[in-house]
Amino acid sequence: MDLSGRTRLADEDECRGPPRKGFSPENFARDTLAVHGGTLFEGLTGAVSVPIYQSSTFRHPGLGESTGFDYSRGTNPTRLELENTVARLEGASYGLAFGSGMGAISAFIKLFKPGDHILVSEDLYGGTYRLFNDFYRHYGFSFSWVDTSDADKLRAGMGDNTRAVFVETPSNPMMKVTDIRLCAELIHKNRGILAVDNTFLSPYFQNPLALGADLVVHSGTKYLGGHNDTLSGFLVHSRDDLEEPLRNIQKSEGACLGPFDSWLTLRGIKTLALRMERHGQNGRRIAEWLRGNGRVEKVFYTGFEDHPQFALSSSQARGHGGMVSFYLKDSADVPVILRSVSLILFAESLGGVESLITYPLVQTHSAIPEAMRLSAGVNERLMRLSAGIEDPDDLIADLDAAFGRCKRGC
Ligand SMILES: *Cc1c(COP(=O)(O)O)cnc(C)c1O
Repeated sequence: MDLSGRTRLADEDECRGPPRKGFSPENFARDTLAVHGGTLFEGLTGAVSVPIYQSSTFRHPGLGESTGFDYSRGTNPTRLELENTVARLEGASYGLAFGSGMGAISAFIKLFKPGDHILVSEDLYGGTYRLFNDFYRHYGFSFSWVDTSDADKLRAGMGDNTRAVFVETPSNPMMKVTDIRLCAELIHKNRGILAVDNTFLSPYFQNPLALGADLVVHSGTKYLGGHNDTLSGFLVHSRDDLEEPLRNIQKSEGACLGPFDSWLTLRGIKTLALRMERHGQNGRRIAEWLRGNGRVEKVFYTGFEDHPQFALSSSQARGHGGMVSFYLKDSADVPVILRSVSLILFAESLGGVESLITYPLVQTHSAIPEAMRLSAGVNERLMRLSAGIEDPDDLIADLDAAFGRCKRGC
């Protein structure tokens, strides 16, 4: 078995142990790929769950010989299995796993050179803004922050030196939807790269490569891992010309995912389809309940038919996910709600089995300057909820009790 430095999916027959008759993952649906997405069957024992290869280095049979694994910063069997699984779920040829979503985004930036301009969604994960603005800007990259859900602004933001467009869709936390096909068309005229952060919908609901994107980014910490127990991040793509540079960045920087975290993420992915269905159902129940509540001014949820980009969203995604944001009428309710929820946890992050409520102003988006934050819509009345997979009636009862306390003004 020779797997050195590559995750090419097509030619992995040799890394199987006991042959599985007629096993052809390329024909499987997403639900099946989530369970059987990799191909690294452990031939020695026939272990059904891919082992945690907790080894930093691998013994060479002789000079100039390798099992395909040399040193775990370069490649590790558990990580490779995960990389292949996530690649397959996105319909991609290649996958690279990093220590977190930010590690993946940091690797993406290193494809570019000082002087290059990168157009970025203005409404996006605060950590991504911080990474670009506080760090990479000082290395000579230029970034502009654009409401990419507005086609005119997107067109106007493209310059001759624009080498990449980086978008989140739906966006975090305002749930704006960007036209992936249009972004691809515009940046490809410049021979540039479209990267889509697909964390919010996961590959179960949206596959940006099929819509023309060049790279997909995931924070695997969220829906892919799904259990609020590990960090991970991914870049997936089908560009032969990008694979070697990206693999080299991953190997050289050392922000790669460790074997145990790779295994946890793999295990999480096995139930991705079941979880996403329930996240989606619970998200809708909560969005509808919030919309009917007198203390709520507005609900941001892509599954509402009157969401401004409902048609676009339905044309590029198969579902609406479990994320719901909302404006309260009165910011005085925020501390009451955060203190009063008991089943729903007041914690940063999203996409896990436990429902979480966040206050973007002071948590996920605190790194974004006030003017930009406000122009994106992140104000002191905005809350964001990640619907978990609990019983929806219990979630609604918890919200009802917490909102009830606001009325009493405690
Ligand atoms: C969490 C998140 C990230 C960062 O990922 P980490 O795994 O926390 O490093 C990037 N993008 C989005 C949309 C996120 O939600």
